[in-house]
Amino acid sequence: MWIRFVYQPITALYYGLYLQLLENDMIKTKRSVWELRRIWLIGFMLLPFSLLLGGWLGFNHAKEKALQQADERLNLYASSFEGAINRYEYLPWLVAQTPDVRRLLDEASDSLVNRVNQFLLNTRNTSMADEVYLMDSSGLTLVSSNFQTPETFVGNNYQFRPYFSDAMRTGRGEFFAIGTTTGLPGYFMSEQVISQQGTDLGVAVVKVNLEPLQADWQLAGEKVFVSDTNRIILLSSHPEWKYRYLNPLSDQQLDDLRRNRQFDGVELTPLGASSRADVLNMPSTEGETASYLNRSVELSRPGWRLHYLVSVEPLYQFALLSAAVVFILYILALTAILWMRERSRRAMAAVKAEQRLRALNDTLEDQVIERTAELQKRTTELERIQRELVQSEKLAALGIMAAGLSHELNQPLTAVKTYAASGKKLIAKGALEQAETILDKIMTLTSRMSDITSQLKVFVRQAPAQHLKADWSARITFVLDMLEHRIQQQGVDIKMDVPIKAMVRADDARIEQVLVNLISNALDAVVDCPIPELAINLHHHNQGWCLQIKDNGSGFSNDEIKHLFEPFYSTKKVGQGMGLGLFICYGLIQDLGGSIRAESRPSGGALFEVWLPSTEERTDEKAYAA
Ligand code: ADP
Repeated sequence: MWIRFVYQPITALYYGLYLQLLENDMIKTKRSVWELRRIWLIGFMLLPFSLLLGGWLGFNHAKEKALQQADERLNLYASSFEGAINRYEYLPWLVAQTPDVRRLLDEASDSLVNRVNQFLLNTRNTSMADEVYLMDSSGLTLVSSNFQTPETFVGNNYQFRPYFSDAMRTGRGEFFAIGTTTGLPGYFMSEQVISQQGTDLGVAVVKVNLEPLQADWQLAGEKVFVSDTNRIILLSSHPEWKYRYLNPLSDQQLDDLRRNRQFDGVELTPLGASSRADVLNMPSTEGETASYLNRSVELSRPGWRLHYLVSVEPLYQFALLSAAVVFILYILALTAILWMRERSRRAMAAVKAEQRLRALNDTLEDQVIERTAELQKRTTELERIQRELVQSEKLAALGIMAAGLSHELNQPLTAVKTYAASGKKLIAKGALEQAETILDKIMTLTSRMSDITSQLKVFVRQAPAQHLKADWSARITFVLDMLEHRIQQQGVDIKMDVPIKAMVRADDARIEQVLVNLISNALDAVVDCPIPELAINLHHHNQGWCLQIKDNGSGFSNDEIKHLFEPFYSTKKVGQGMGLGLFICYGLIQDLGGSIRAESRPSGGALFEVWLPSTEERTDEKAYAA
């Protein structure tokens, strides 16, 4: 039953510890949870064995110590027991040697009886024996130290006592018995009295009281008893065990006991003790049985044994304590193992993490070196491409410039060609004055062409020319005149809304270039129109002059508008357009500090608007966003 009281708190403590460890977050991964559980499982399975081992070792240790102590006490009590008897051993002999005693047995007389009675009383008082008395050869007590007491032995015959018969037979005798006269137990020692002539006269007896020994044992709180040859307890620290037999008595034994009246007046009962191995189960005062380890030693009296009982209960308690200590140590060790394991696991994890980090770092460094090398390679490559690009750009710019020049010179050259043809005809007719006018125009165009060729700055985007002045209205008239031949060929209806004079901050050549490009494009756009129309409108607007050229041609889509002013953007057939006219116009207008924009007219056709600052009042504000 006690095991339940041990097992339950241990299990509770164990499980509590387990939960605490779990809560302490010693477990991080599923794997470590399983490992931990395995350790706990093994620990749990080994725990009962450890507890049993601890308990067993504790029990044996306590038992060894208790038995050692029991043996020491046993020896002490045995020697005190022997001493208590031995100190009287001489006394029967001494009494038997006394001349008066011999004489009394030989020739009894009243005076001698009195004298010997007194002698025996003195002897008893001096020796502190219980009683001293003398029997004749028939076993009749003639004299006794208790001759004066009512329970005197005098006159009683103790022939049935073995100490008498033994003494008569062998010269000496001893016997433990309960007094038939007094009812008091005692140890009887006898000596045969022999006359000078050697005849058996009787027996001198000394009764020793051994009861005080029990008081000593009781006082020490120890369980001690003496058993005789019949395994009957004669003396005991526990009164309830006294005169009870350990082993069942045979009929022969019972017959002997009846004959020698050893336990006269006492009912002998079995003790009810049971023994298993070296453990003796004895009845206790509470009616229960208590278990003892039985240690015994043989006494000098034949068949007598002195027993010392060691209670088993404290041994079990010590075993339990040992098991508890083992349990605590076990749990501590298990926790220490887990803690150390966890610590090493974390240390390992830290080392691994560091290794991983180092490896990562190395990889990164390698990558950086690799990328740097690659970057360097690419930079070199890029620089090479850049150099090539610059070269290409230079060539492209050169190409644009060449194409631009060719584009811009195309119209005046055509005009020159037309004028030259007209001039030739006029000279042939003899209309020299008119021919001269034509030649003037050719000269003007030639000088314009030389202006255009000198306009390389269009491509280098120089700052706008300052202090320039041009009459925009006059330039419109000039360009229309230059394109007159084509206008008439196409049958285009030109609607003009232009003031007489519109001074802008620009030079004639650039304005003419812009006008030639815009009007030529408009004429191109209306080439397939049944009723081709062109409206030119010049009005004052926002500190400058705004020119609007509207046509009723094809117009352009929103997508086209985005690319109109880009170089080489053209929707015209190959050979008809280079896509440079609007690009050049844009550059020229920018140079002059003006703005240009295009839109598709809702009624169809295109609208180009050019704004240039007026010379009357300077302003940086632009009429339109380019
Ligand atoms: P090019 O006339 O050589 O093609 P431009 O730069 O002068 O080059 O014109 C670019 C394009 O703009 C033209 O191809 C044409 O599609 C479009 N464009 C210019 N003016 C007009 C216009 N008045 N109507 C319709 N489209 C035009």
